[in-house]
Amino acid sequence: MSHKYVYLFSEGNKDMRELLGGKGANLAEMTKAGMPVPQGFTISTEACTQYYKDGRKINDEIQAQIYEYLGKMEEICGKKFADPENPLLVSVRSGARASMPGMMDTILNLGLNDVVVEGLAKFTNNPRFAYDSYRRFIQMFSDVVMELPKPEFEKIIDQKKEEKGVKQDTELDTEDMKDLVKRFKAFYKENKGEDFPSDPKVQLMEAVKAVFRSWDNPRANVYRRMNEIPYDWGTAVNVQAMVFGNSGDKSGTGVAFTRNPATGEHKLFGEYLINAQGEDVVAGVRTPSPISQLEQDMPEVYKQFAEIADRLEKHYKDMQDMEFTIENGKLYMLQTRNGKRTANAALKIAVDLVHEGMIDEEEAVLRVEPQQLDALLHPQFDADTLKKATVVGKGLAASPGAACGKIVFTAEDAKEWAKKGEKVVLVRRETSPEDIEGMQVAEGILTVRGGMTSHAAVVARGMGTCCVSGCGEINVDYDAKNFTLGGKTYNEGDYISIDGSTGNIYGEAIPTAPASIAGDFGLFMGWADKYRKLKVRTNADTPRDAHQAREFGAEGIGLCRTEHMFFEGDRIKAMREMIIADNTEDRKKALDKIMPYQQGDFEALFEEMNGYPVTIRFLDPPLHEFLPTKEEDIAEIAKELNVTVEKVHEVIESLHEFNPMMGHRGCRLTVTYPEIAEMQTTAVINAAINVQKKGVNVIPQIMIPLVGEVKEFDFVKKIVVATADKLIADAGVELKYEVGTMIEIPRAALTADKIAADADFFCYGTNDLTQMTFGFSRDDAGKFLDAYYDNKIYESDPFVHIDVDGVGRLVEMSAKAGREANAALHLGICGEHGGDPTSVEFCHKVGLDYVSCSPFRVPIARLAAAQAAVKEKRA
Ligand code: ADP
Ligand code: MG
Ligand code: MG
Repeated sequence: MSHKYVYLFSEGNKDMRELLGGKGANLAEMTKAGMPVPQGFTISTEACTQYYKDGRKINDEIQAQIYEYLGKMEEICGKKFADPENPLLVSVRSGARASMPGMMDTILNLGLNDVVVEGLAKFTNNPRFAYDSYRRFIQMFSDVVMELPKPEFEKIIDQKKEEKGVKQDTELDTEDMKDLVKRFKAFYKENKGEDFPSDPKVQLMEAVKAVFRSWDNPRANVYRRMNEIPYDWGTAVNVQAMVFGNSGDKSGTGVAFTRNPATGEHKLFGEYLINAQGEDVVAGVRTPSPISQLEQDMPEVYKQFAEIADRLEKHYKDMQDMEFTIENGKLYMLQTRNGKRTANAALKIAVDLVHEGMIDEEEAVLRVEPQQLDALLHPQFDADTLKKATVVGKGLAASPGAACGKIVFTAEDAKEWAKKGEKVVLVRRETSPEDIEGMQVAEGILTVRGGMTSHAAVVARGMGTCCVSGCGEINVDYDAKNFTLGGKTYNEGDYISIDGSTGNIYGEAIPTAPASIAGDFGLFMGWADKYRKLKVRTNADTPRDAHQAREFGAEGIGLCRTEHMFFEGDRIKAMREMIIADNTEDRKKALDKIMPYQQGDFEALFEEMNGYPVTIRFLDPPLHEFLPTKEEDIAEIAKELNVTVEKVHEVIESLHEFNPMMGHRGCRLTVTYPEIAEMQTTAVINAAINVQKKGVNVIPQIMIPLVGEVKEFDFVKKIVVATADKLIADAGVELKYEVGTMIEIPRAALTADKIAADADFFCYGTNDLTQMTFGFSRDDAGKFLDAYYDNKIYESDPFVHIDVDGVGRLVEMSAKAGREANAALHLGICGEHGGDPTSVEFCHKVGLDYVSCSPFRVPIARLAAAQAAVKEKRA
């Protein structure tokens, strides 16, 4: 038997999305439920896949089935395709499994030609309507199928209106419409070198092909990549009998939601237009009326629609987004789907549906996109003030949130002003590591230069601070402490507001309100926590970040990068002293200066994380990162450290590496300079002893980075244990600590059994593990990865979503081997992936104990972990 590629609406149901696409499956479901749906058929996604397999051809088998089902459709509708007497016209609508903008636009009124249109005019006794439909069809078909630009047709219409001296399309009469048809066809022939296809069967087949083609157009590919929709899904095509909202004043078309998609309010929400077709509602040509108006205009239709809406919502147990058309007072449903909604609405609807008894808590947890929560975790502008505010400039939306404060131009000033209790926005041409402290106290950061991956953008996102970067229109004068933008000068101390979610800059104060996990949000997160198995920790280097993460529900620190602690104030100087030193004694002296700072930092972190584990990673980056590159800075350092400029140059020279990423870094630093690990261990253990005395329940976990060989791990561990045990014994206290390693070199993963025998924990550093497994660096891959996406070699950025087949396999293998060698081993992940919902799901599947991510991603990870657990339970 031949394969079935085509399904009548009456043959499908809502669970057949994979085959029929979302639109087709729901049209079938509504048909099954006895709702008024114009009938038709769906050409399956398998036909799309087959089309590509056949070298972009619709093969004979599929074509035959399409004609066969067209025949069945004619019978059901009691009209004939291409028949001038009572003709059947159809719409051709694309419909993938997931709704996808960027795909082919719908074609309406297909099946018309010069003969059929006359028949339609006679049959409906409405020639203007017939010719209006015809010219719309030529326009849509030419644009969508033949790629003749839409604006060209608009131009022809405008020209016609000008000749007639009228303004509105509605003022054009039958003869005008006929004339437009003529002009459109002439334009078509001129550009395509052939006549507009007059055979409706050809029109239909060309339209179906165009839908299949659109699955692979650049817009669709970009959207797919952004939303993780696999290329091999394909799209379905729906061929549906036309109903006409443009056939008079008892007709119309509209869109409505069962609840408000912006607020979640439980009330029908939507718009409609009388005497209109298709996209007229959203095209903005005429102003639509609110759906409530329909109750006055056509009470019977409204009542029926409200009932259907209610039934659909109860049936799908979710807020519905519906499209409908009214033809001569009769209602038709053209589409229903779970509606898109804002984060606030998503929470409210999920919670309300539970309270209304429609879904249970477990189901509610699946109803909010983890990624969506991000919008709720940052400060927001006061909505009323924002409405009245003027945008004075625009940069890149580099890190979300809203900020309002007084302008300062240096990190120093930011710190000083903040100490006095002022809220500041730090304005810089660009930022550098020395600005960190200023960035930390600022409400927001605004830079003139730099893109989405500039220092400012990356650091701000890590801190969860609002940042607008790369606003090139700004002219900063650091000396005068002012900047100009849009012809206006802004001085230090003037108020400014920036929106890191849009990139907008406002030259005035707009009050902001901080985010909090309360109300529906709090209740909802409580449900999520009930179901998840993964613990969620945070990556935090400062007490401020740690505090924020606790507020967001973090259960410990999974990664504290100690090197960030070496940049502030006097520490960087001592650090440089250490690097310049050419003997152990001098190095130790310099390290001794850093020790108290580190200890203080750790004490503060332990206090914030009372009762939760804190994983501290020992010094990781190559030392050259702590030295300057600019000549003037080198001279300054030489003076500060009381050495010659040549000496500093010499050191910089000696630290030069061809591939620092694979150079002298991580535990390799300790193998050459054991005193670094000694100092850091001392700081950790002394800090723990001190806070323990204050009653803090502290669980320090020392993490050795970049291990690739168990002996290397053992070498460093021995130093750590010797130092720690002596301190603990000398202090006469009891203190438990752990020593583990990052797994970020493939060799470590491959020899995990050996390492696990000696380690207390593994934490997957998947940023490095990804770089080292792929053999390309995160900082450079951007340049060529686009070509890999375009050629469908990779579907997504492996630094954003964990590469399950390669890197993931290393994680899974080594986790298993590690646990077999050491049953007490605990496992976590602390790369960027720890806050990515799809990667979190992977971590759940392979049985890690925790994920760790930046503070502002903690709630996202909590929800993603809960969804992974619920999905697994239901699978
Ligand atoms: P999209 O996926 O972009 O929403 P649709 O396939 O839903 O595209 O079509 C857009 C609009 O075209 C619909 O909302 C409806 O107004 C109109 N439309 C589609 N099919 C028909 C039809 N068979 N009869 C009348 N109008 C239709
Ligand atoms: Mg639609
Ligand atoms: Mg690393």
